[in-house]
Amino acid sequence: MLSFDYRPSPARVLFGRGVRDRAAEVLRDLGCERALVLTTPPQQKAGERLATDLGKLCLGVYARAVMHTPVEVTEAAVEVVRDQRADCLVSLGGGSTVGLGKAIVWRTGLAHVAIPTTYAGSEVTPLLGQTEGGRKTTFRDPKVYPTAVLYDPDLTESLPPGLSVTSGMNALAHAVEALYAPDATPIATLTAAEGIRALVAALPGIAGHPTAEDRERALYGAWLCGSVLGQVTMGLHHRICHGLGGAFDLPHAETHTVVLPHVAAYNAGPALAPLWDALGPDTLAGFAARLNAPTALRDLGMPEAGIARIAAEIAARAPANPRPLDRAALEALLRAAWAGTPPQTDKKDPTGGTP
Ligand code: NAD
Repeated sequence: MLSFDYRPSPARVLFGRGVRDRAAEVLRDLGCERALVLTTPPQQKAGERLATDLGKLCLGVYARAVMHTPVEVTEAAVEVVRDQRADCLVSLGGGSTVGLGKAIVWRTGLAHVAIPTTYAGSEVTPLLGQTEGGRKTTFRDPKVYPTAVLYDPDLTESLPPGLSVTSGMNALAHAVEALYAPDATPIATLTAAEGIRALVAALPGIAGHPTAEDRERALYGAWLCGSVLGQVTMGLHHRICHGLGGAFDLPHAETHTVVLPHVAAYNAGPALAPLWDALGPDTLAGFAARLNAPTALRDLGMPEAGIARIAAEIAARAPANPRPLDRAALEALLRAAWAGTPPQTDKKDPTGGTP
C-alpha cells in the first residue's frame, strides 16, 4: 500500500556556474538590505570577494565558523548580528559555515542564503547539530531551513581532491541510507538514486584532474543527496558515524567515507539496487579505493577499545535496518572498518551480503 509523508526543503534553489553573481538579486527578492557574510577563516578571501560583489547590500564578513557549531561561536556571532542590525545571513562554505548560519537563524529568525562550497548537504536539511561543553546534540526543526540556496560549481574548484572525495562519499552516504529509510517516499527514493548516479559518475574525475563537468555533476549530486538527508530518517551508517564523531572526535567526512562501504555491504540487498547499478562491476569498497579514500578508522584516530563501546551503544538502541542487527555483527563490522579490512560483498545476493 502506498502511504507517505513528504516534507521537502522550502528553499529556492539556483544552480549553475556563475550563479553566485545572482546573490544580490536573491537578497533583493527577499527584501534584504543588510546582509552579513559568514565563512571559515581559510575562506575569508572568498567571503570578502562575495561581500564586494554584494556592495551596499552587505555589512561585512564574519569569518569565524568552525566545525561542529560550538554554541559559544554562535552566541558571539548573534551579538555581531544584533549590533550591526543585520537583516540576512549569507553563508559561503561547507557544512560548518552553513551550520553557523542555521544556528543563528534558529536564535534570530533571519533570512539565510546559503552558498555551499562542499558536498555536505546541510543547506537543504532541517537538521542542526551544536556542540556545548564537548557534547554534540542534533535536532530537527523546519525553522532552520535556509531561505535560498545558490549552488555554483565554480566555487568547489578550490576544494582539494582529498576533501572533495571524502565530502562526496559523505553525500553518497545520505542517499544510500535514504534507499532503506523507514519513512522513504517515492520522491526521496528517486532523488537518492539520481544523487548516487551523479556522484558515482563524478567522483573518479574529482579524485584526479576534475573537469568543470565533474564539478557540476558532483555538486548536483550533493544537492540531491542533501535533500534526502533532510526528508527521511537516516539509519545505521549515520548512527555509527555520529557515535564515533562524538566519542572520539573523528573528522566528519573521513569517518563517513571509511564506514559507508561496510554498512552498504552489511545491508547489501534489493533496496540498494540503485547503488549497485551505478557502480557496475565495482563494489563500493573498490570504488572508494580507486578514489584513494581513507579506509581505516584507526588511521583517523579511533582507539581499538572503541569498537566494543560503540557496538554496545548501537545494539542497545538499534535503528530500523533492512538486516537484523546485534552486538556481535556490529562489532565485526566496526572491527573491519577500524582495521581497514575490505568487506566481502556479494551485492547480487538478495538476502543481504556479509560484512
Ligand atoms: P567544513 O565546512 O568544516 O569544511 C572543511 C574545510 O574545507 C574548512 O576548512 C573549509 O574552510 C574548507 N573549505 C570548504 N569549502 C572549500 C572550498 N570550496 N575550497 C577550499 N576550502 C574549502 O566541512 P563539511 O564536511 O562541509 O561540513 C562538516 C560539518 O557539517 C560537520 O560539523 C557536520 O556535522 C555538518 N553537517 C551538517 C549537516 C546537517 O544537515 N545539519 C549535514 C552535513 C554536515
